[in-house]
Amino acid sequence: MMIIHSSEFLISNTDPKLCPPDNKPEYAFIGRSNVGKSSLINMLTEQKKLAKVSGQPGKTQTINHFLINKEWYLVDLPGYGYAKTSKKLRESFTGFIREYIVTRKNLIAIFVLLDSRLPPQRIDMDFMESLGNAGIPFVMVFTKIDKMSSSGLNKNILEYKRKMLDSWSDLPHSFLSSATSSFGRDEILTYIDDLNKQMIGKL
Ligand code: GDP
Repeated sequence: MMIIHSSEFLISNTDPKLCPPDNKPEYAFIGRSNVGKSSLINMLTEQKKLAKVSGQPGKTQTINHFLINKEWYLVDLPGYGYAKTSKKLRESFTGFIREYIVTRKNLIAIFVLLDSRLPPQRIDMDFMESLGNAGIPFVMVFTKIDKMSSSGLNKNILEYKRKMLDSWSDLPHSFLSSATSSFGRDEILTYIDDLNKQMIGKL
């Protein structure tokens, strides 16, 4: 089990070239605004306000780097999902976020946050499809599970997985999380720890 000794805010920017040196494993968190991204980051790092350093909750419009245990980067990416038209949907994967995602060499995986209370959302499916098409490794995190009955939770998650399997032969790894109970914390940190170990000497 990974123990978090230190979490430091490093930099917010909109230019991938200004990100910190790409010599440590990096994990980026993204999802629709209000999905619980700030809460999850704070839960993982056991800091009340780490993810709010650079702005208001749900309003992050920058790439935010945090250094964890002086060993790996946690990145808070802007939330998507304000826009409703299909053109805007496609734009969830353009601009500086896309540039960051496709160019960042040390980006090991993207954590795509999905609200466990909702059935599959078009914008999330489109975003994950874009990641898959670009060959970017990602995992799914179903947030706010404390708000769900187990039957409702299973229904939404099964539906997400079924839809993913319409397009892909394999399912990405998935996690359940609750920022209020810290459910999922150990599993997510262990997953990151295992990947970090695999990356030793490779970056
Ligand atoms: P962000 O916009 O994705 O960063 O979302 P926030 O972390 O700011 O969360 C949005 C709202 O959902 C806030 O009111 C949070 O308190 C609430 N929230 C986030 N995660 C959880 C969770 O796991 N359980 C519950 N019950 N509420 C949550």
